[in-house]
Amino acid sequence: MDDSIFTKIINGEIPSHKIYEDDTVFAFLDIHPINTGHTLVVPKQQVEFLWDLDDATYQSVMAAVKKIAEHMRQVLNVEYVGQQVIGVDVPHAHVHLIPFNTIDEYHNVPDVSADPNHGALGAIAKKLQM
Ligand code: AMP
Repeated sequence: MDDSIFTKIINGEIPSHKIYEDDTVFAFLDIHPINTGHTLVVPKQQVEFLWDLDDATYQSVMAAVKKIAEHMRQVLNVEYVGQQVIGVDVPHAHVHLIPFNTIDEYHNVPDVSADPNHGALGAIAKKLQM
């Protein structure tokens, strides 16, 4: 199996705006955020679907998701953190965490053709780093 773009990020071959890492997961900002702080929590093990992970690894991923979401609520002072699993673009399991206050923020559709705003992403990553 070829390395996914997320495995390349985890291995440091592609840069990312990292906010958290432990033995099981690597978390970094989505380059086309739905809202400020939109983060991807990715298992280090490259599998296509979260439910391809064994139960213990799945639970470790979800424990990290919870930890990061609680941290986001505190640091970004938002009322909500939406959690999504989509996975149609990148076939390496990941959980989206999307901080928001209003439903319009949560339903924002990012312009994926735009160049990522690395200045803004870097500033948010610095705030969110755990
Ligand atoms: P999906 O597979 O549908 O859950 O979407 C994949 C997500 O990964 C999209 O929101 C992309 O913006 C995001 N993405 C793709 N490449 C990168 C990258 N190099 N760094 C950060 N986020 C990325």
